[in-house]
Amino acid sequence: MACLFCKIIAGEIPSKKIYEDDQLFAFQDINPQAPLHALIVPRRHIATLNDLAAEDEALVGSMVRRAAAIAKERGYDGSGYRTVLNCNSDAGQSVFHVHLHVLGGRTMAWPPG
Ligand code: AMP
Ligand code: ZN
Repeated sequence: MACLFCKIIAGEIPSKKIYEDDQLFAFQDINPQAPLHALIVPRRHIATLNDLAAEDEALVGSMVRRAAAIAKERGYDGSGYRTVLNCNSDAGQSVFHVHLHVLGGRTMAWPPG
């Protein structure tokens, strides 16, 4: 059975799309933690960061560059934004399809909770 984000990519579950290309899909987080809270996912199902292979380096690079592009479109390139990749339980990963969070539009705390 396909995972939640695979279903979103396939259009079987609705989402607020921000961007798509042949490798990536980006959409608004359903429970936004900042004025901008996008999720950037590879179209191909990859469960966690632990499952990335050497061949995925360009894919991961394109995810990070897309995060910067989305933040810039929203005008947060100068003020700043945060990108997050959670892996497994201690980090709070709840959907097991790799996703890059892009958060912007407010001051972020550090260290993270
Ligand atoms: P993580 O905790 O890093 O696995 O992040 C999973 C994210 O997916 C959370 O921020 C959720 O709010 C978000 N999420 C869960 N279900 C949906 C959905 N149907 N559409 C958009 N975002 C979702
Ligand atoms: Zn998936």
